[in-house]
Amino acid sequence: MLKLVPKSEPTARQAVTERVKKMYKREDGMLQCNRCGCRTSLTAVNGAFVRNGRKQGGTVIEKDVCAECYKRGITSPMLPELKPVK
Ligand SMILES: [Zn+2]
Repeated sequence: MLKLVPKSEPTARQAVTERVKKMYKREDGMLQCNRCGCRTSLTAVNGAFVRNGRKQGGTVIEKDVCAECYKRGITSPMLPELKPVK
């Protein structure tokens, strides 16, 4: 049987994350991680070439995901609309 559990107190780490997210509220249109509040975005491209000094081709694997979360193995979108975290 399923039971409702009262919401637990945030851990120290969650409290810091929430405080940081509050301090750095997303400005209109800015890319900001919905999970950790980081503003560093990452685009991963596989198989690109440099020809005549320009990067060409390649397949985009990830686009505009949070760099900090990606380091931890989480793909977190940074666009304002919330999508489920993979
Ligand atoms: Zn993040």
